[in-house]
Amino acid sequence: MNIRLTILGSSSAVPTATRNTSAQFLQFLHFSLLIDCGESSIHRMIRLGLPYDKIEYIFISHLHTDHILGLPGLLSSYALKNRVKPLTIFSPQGLKELMEPLIGPTESLPYSLNWVTIDPEKSMVILDQELFTVETIPLLHRVPTSGYLFREKRRPPNIKKEAISKYQLSIAQIKAAKKGLPVQDANGQVIDNQDLVIESPAPRSYAYCSDTMYSETVAERVKGVDLLYHEATYLDELRDLAQARGHATSLQAAQIAQQAKVGKLLLGHFSTRYKDAKILEQEAQTVFPNTVAVGDGDCFGI
Ligand SMILES: [Zn+2]
Ligand SMILES: [Zn+2]
Repeated sequence: MNIRLTILGSSSAVPTATRNTSAQFLQFLHFSLLIDCGESSIHRMIRLGLPYDKIEYIFISHLHTDHILGLPGLLSSYALKNRVKPLTIFSPQGLKELMEPLIGPTESLPYSLNWVTIDPEKSMVILDQELFTVETIPLLHRVPTSGYLFREKRRPPNIKKEAISKYQLSIAQIKAAKKGLPVQDANGQVIDNQDLVIESPAPRSYAYCSDTMYSETVAERVKGVDLLYHEATYLDELRDLAQARGHATSLQAAQIAQQAKVGKLLLGHFSTRYKDAKILEQEAQTVFPNTVAVGDGDCFGI
């Protein structure tokens, strides 16, 4: 099953001709998820052919306009298209109160809309599905802000095909072996479980951290993830400005990736002063080589 991330917006507070404000479409196993919703996110999804009507969960990091301005349009479009599929939106406190004057009372919508307020100061599991979980990551910004960590659950081991014929395993024995329970051969001897099963592939994970200052706590929370998106609004020469505005530099993002030993680092949320994000990518690569400065429409699989 696929995990595929599509960047819908990679600019910071102001959009440019080629970069929208923050939003990401995440195909996580058989779920369609949206992370942040900068202005025109729906238009970007339509142009990229993404199934935006299948989105069941939306994760909002904080209430700055470059992360939420696309929401009223998206939620109203769902209403106009007579959506019936329920929708859940996770966010720090106050989103519903901001949105209802624009989209009307939640109860008047044709679909069930569930507003879930998260506590951005705590790291906790906010969604526990059969195949994956979503945890919050407390971030350091000017307003309450949370990142999100999407983690696949470990699947049961697979039975070895050759073991089925070798030991003439019944369905019940196969089920028992996958659970690690003892299984006997024809002579009543217990078969070593390692002869019967192979471990399933390692569970995959993705962490979204925007907007945030440099924080070692973030590095601890995202330890070992396969893919990390970390904001990099500025080059490190503007470290003081980044700090004052509650943002991080590309070098700091790379330091987080290095400390956390992640698989790959994606940079985004670029200041409009940078016409080409390569310069931010190159700075980060001096510390963490497997870094990519993302562009709108870019896709990354895990
Ligand atoms: Zn922002
Ligand atoms: Zn912000």
